[in-house]
Amino acid sequence: MNSNEIKILAIESSCDETAAAVVVNGRDVRSNVISSQIALHTLYGGVVPEIASRKHIEKINQVIGQALSDAGMTLDDMDAIGVTYGPGLVGALLVGVAEAKAISYAKKLPLVGVHHIEGHISANYIENKDLEPPFLCLVVSGGHTHLVKVLDYGKYEILGKTRDDAAGEAFDKVAHEGNPHAVEFPRAKIVDGPYDFSFSGLKSAVLNYLNGCKMKNIPIVQADIAASFQKAVTDVLIGNAMKAIDEFGMDKFAIAGGVASNGTLREGMRAACEKKGVAFYHPSPIFCTDNAAMIGVAAYYDFMRGQRDGLDLNAVPNLKLGER
Ligand code: ZN
Repeated sequence: MNSNEIKILAIESSCDETAAAVVVNGRDVRSNVISSQIALHTLYGGVVPEIASRKHIEKINQVIGQALSDAGMTLDDMDAIGVTYGPGLVGALLVGVAEAKAISYAKKLPLVGVHHIEGHISANYIENKDLEPPFLCLVVSGGHTHLVKVLDYGKYEILGKTRDDAAGEAFDKVAHEGNPHAVEFPRAKIVDGPYDFSFSGLKSAVLNYLNGCKMKNIPIVQADIAASFQKAVTDVLIGNAMKAIDEFGMDKFAIAGGVASNGTLREGMRAACEKKGVAFYHPSPIFCTDNAAMIGVAAYYDFMRGQRDGLDLNAVPNLKLGER
C-alpha cells in the first residue's frame, strides 16, 4: 500500500442520484457509481422529495459497497469521507450526511462536508490535470446558473447568478435539430448586476409567441422554437462569461454542471474562448451530471487545507458557495 496516497470515499445524494466514488490524491478517480432515480420521478413530472429520500436510503449502502469494490478497496483503506451537505433537497441530503457521519464515527475517519457547486466546479480537475486556479467557471444545471471566479482551491467569488429560473430548465426541454435563427427571442440584460442572468422573460416570450401563432393559425415548428430558445439562452451565458473574462483578465475558462454536456453551449463557449486566446475546459458528460467523484475531488482539496467536520455536520438545503 502506498502511504503517500490520500484516499477519499465520497458520497452525493443532494437530488435524485445516489452516488459514491473513491478518489485518490484529488484527481485520480478509482470508481464512480451512480444510481439514478430519474425514471421513477418521470412518472410524476418532477423530482418528488419524499420518494427521493426513501430511494436514497434503499440504495446508499449498495452504491457505497459497489464504489469500494470497483476501486478494489475497503473502508479500512480510506483516509477520509467526503459528503455533499448542501445545497439540495433536505431529506435527500440528510441520507448522505447521516451515512457519512456513521462511517466516520465507526471507522474513526475524518469527515469533510462539501458544497455541491464546489463539486461541480472541481469535476474539471479530473480530466484536465493541468488546470489550476485561478480560473473562471460557469456552472449550469437544472437548478443552478452561477458565474464563479475560482480564486484558489476552496476560494470562490460569485460574480453572477440567475435572478429567477435556472438556465438548465430551458435546456431540459429543447430539441437539437431546429433552426436557431427561426425566431428572435429577447436576451435579458440586468442593469444592476452585470453578470446576473434572467430567463423568466425569455420563457414568457416563448409562451407569447406560441399563443400568437395559435391565434393567427400559423403552424408551430417545435424544433425551430426550441433551437431559437436554446440559442437565446446560450448567447446570454456566453455573453456574460466573455464580459467577465475581459474585465478580470482571466486566461482560463471552464464550464460545469449538467448542462455543460450540452453540445450547443459547449461548442459556443469553445469558439468564444478560442477567439480570445483563452484556454477552455469542460468535464466529460459523466462528470457533468451529479456524481460523487466530483465531491471526492473537492473533498480532497478541502481535506488538504485542514477542513474537518464534526458529527454535528448538518444538511443545509440553501447553503451558499464560499460560506466558510
Ligand atoms: Zn448538481
